[in-house]
Amino acid sequence: MQAVSSWGRLRQVPHEVDRPAFLDQVHVGAGAGAAKALCYGMGRSYGDVCLNENGRLIVTDQLDRFLAFDRERGIVRAEAGLTLDHLLRVVVPHGWFVPVTPGTKFVTLGGVVANDVHGKNHEVAGTFGSHVRAIGLARSSGDVITLSNSENSELFAATIGGLGLTGAMLWVELELMPIKSAMIETETLAIGNLQDFFRLAGESGDWPYTVAWVDCLAKGDATGRGLFIRGRHAGSGGLKVHRAPRVGVPLDAPGVLLNAHTIAAFNALYRRRPWVLGRKTVHYDPFFFPLDAIARWNRLYGRRGFFQHQSVVPMASAADTMRKLLELTATFGEGSFLVVLKLFGDKPSPGLLSFPMPGATLALDFPNKGESTHRLLAAMAETVIAAGGRLYPAKDATMSGEAFRAGFPNWRKLEAQRDPAMMSDFWRRVTGEAA
Ligand SMILES: Cc1cc2nc3c(=O)[nH]c(=O)nc-3n(C[C@H](O)[C@H](O)[C@H](O)COP(=O)(O)OP(=O)(O)OC[C@H]3O[C@@H](n4cnc5c(N)ncnc54)[C@H](O)[C@@H]3O)c2cc1C
Repeated sequence: MQAVSSWGRLRQVPHEVDRPAFLDQVHVGAGAGAAKALCYGMGRSYGDVCLNENGRLIVTDQLDRFLAFDRERGIVRAEAGLTLDHLLRVVVPHGWFVPVTPGTKFVTLGGVVANDVHGKNHEVAGTFGSHVRAIGLARSSGDVITLSNSENSELFAATIGGLGLTGAMLWVELELMPIKSAMIETETLAIGNLQDFFRLAGESGDWPYTVAWVDCLAKGDATGRGLFIRGRHAGSGGLKVHRAPRVGVPLDAPGVLLNAHTIAAFNALYRRRPWVLGRKTVHYDPFFFPLDAIARWNRLYGRRGFFQHQSVVPMASAADTMRKLLELTATFGEGSFLVVLKLFGDKPSPGLLSFPMPGATLALDFPNKGESTHRLLAAMAETVIAAGGRLYPAKDATMSGEAFRAGFPNWRKLEAQRDPAMMSDFWRRVTGEAA
């Protein structure tokens, strides 16, 4: 047994680890009575969607080869363990980019499909799954099935955003987006409160990428104060790829490093930096992946790890709910370094259980302080569900089965498509006896 954790580092979980080097060595079913299996990409999910305690973990890091790249049409087929980091290194020099990217490039194709991830351009591009043309899926029956909109379409929809439960993805075929340059034109504007955020988000039609960073400790009329950042691909500047991170966190930080005082000081300092405001042109790497500059930054939260809350609520209740969530955070005094606010557009997600819905999404990190953090997360979850929203499984370690089932009424359809030989700690936790 080998201890494995996810990005939040809340638990070290024992697993029987398989590391296949070739696609024909991926075995989902290991025979009658064998432990259930789950795939593990880069473990960048924060909670337990990528964990399977005392079960088998199929780690895909060696399954990272390109299978085909049509440079004229921008269509790439690669093994599911290929990271976006590697993919960008190969495709950017040819004038192609990933159509949807999360806030880190250290994620695998299998991982981003299984969580149907979103990026800063959700309004115009929808989720990652919208750009997937086909998937090769290994099932415990021994079959390898091709999935697409025209072939095994139900299983295709269940696999996109299917939390790794429908089988092991062997390869993914993706449609890329053309770019003229690796540079991004950006503009950063100060926002005084939530109204400013909603106004600017509505006025940014010429900017496909938008996101806001919010000072979670601001209260009253200043709730939602922060920075609004928007971007678009530049027309010139060359097609240079990114570099590897040069700085890393070698050890766990002492638990006291990130506390309400240091977070308040950081927020004040960051907000008052006038030089961050205005227009400039930057490389795609710091624009899309600012946290990737520091390898293993999750260690800054110390040995006890940290939680993330990310939720989405429908537009009708968005302003009111965002205010309530930020007020809850300020009241509990559990400051968050990274508070990200963004709108989701109305492009339908292709997955059965995809997280995005039209509305507003808020993400916050909290150091694990035990009981008080659990209480805050439960209060936030209750607020979100009451507003008709849902929590993001990729970020979650605590949502109740009730909250999950309320947010994802399609869950039984995924359960019906689940490969019987696959299971995760997340699925066990949120479906429990209801499954
Ligand atoms: C700094 C940071 C920023 C982030 N920003 C965003 C963001 O902006 N938007 C967003 O949507 N998410 C974001 N995320 C979350 C991240 O994109 C997802 O958790 C992603 O799924 C992680 O990919 P991974 O390869 O590490 O997969 P893991 O975390 O290892 O696994 C995720 C899921 O994929 C399944 N899986 C992995 N490989 C396969 C396979 N071959 N076959 C079948 N199932 C498989 C696993 O079983 C698991 O259920 C962020 C995470 C971090 C750490």
